[in-house]
Amino acid sequence: MDVVCRKYSCIYNEKSKCSRKNLQIDKIAYCDDIKIDNNKIVEDVSKDMFSHEPDVAPYHHCKNMNIMCEDKDCIFNKSGECFSNGIFVGSEKNRAGCNSFVKR
Ligand code: SF4
Ligand code: SF4
Repeated sequence: MDVVCRKYSCIYNEKSKCSRKNLQIDKIAYCDDIKIDNNKIVEDVSKDMFSHEPDVAPYHHCKNMNIMCEDKDCIFNKSGECFSNGIFVGSEKNRAGCNSFVKR
């Protein structure tokens, strides 16, 4: 299970990976554990993304990552738990939505 997240200002975001051991996703597929730190220094990868690869954390299989999800409309939701191999979380204003949602 790998959780890639674009909400870089969240305290749990480490170079695009979520560092938590568990996640709660709400009934409209937004991350409930988001905790924004407006003082966090976030690298702007867009400035030199064409000259070198962005400094992102390598893939790591997190056996312990457990995602509970209240969005029952998603095909990966089984009894309130996410059974996807990994999810991609996006960024909008002060929210972070699961972009891996697939409607049943
Ligand atoms: S917004 Fe959610 S998924 Fe993203 S780093 Fe924060 S806790 Fe993890
Ligand atoms: S992929 Fe589906 S079940 Fe998994 S966290 Fe996202 S919305 Fe919930």
